[in-house]
Amino acid sequence: MRKIGWALAYAVPAIVTSPAACHFASCSYRDYDVPMPRRMTIAGQIEQLIGNLGGSPICDDCITDQLNLSVRSQTNVVTRELGHRDEYDRAKTSCGQCGALKTAIQIRK
Ligand SMILES: [Zn+2]
Repeated sequence: MRKIGWALAYAVPAIVTSPAACHFASCSYRDYDVPMPRRMTIAGQIEQLIGNLGGSPICDDCITDQLNLSVRSQTNVVTRELGHRDEYDRAKTSCGQCGALKTAIQIRK
């Protein structure tokens, strides 16, 4: 009887935790209400943020703030790169977040 008790003690937590492990590992990162996992790249986070704004321009400073990035130059490298893509517009305009007239990026609708 004691052996069965041990088996249950180990088996039950494994059954309870495995769906959560799946949830955090792979199923949820596209869900905007769920915190992004740390392994998502900075470029991926920036793309997602710009996409979430649905065409509203955002400057490098606001991206850096919103994603809690430590260095603004990280943001600049990514937005410069995205600015060359057809899906994005990067130009001097009023930032939709802080209102300042500066270089901001937006997704084309
Ligand atoms: Zn801004």
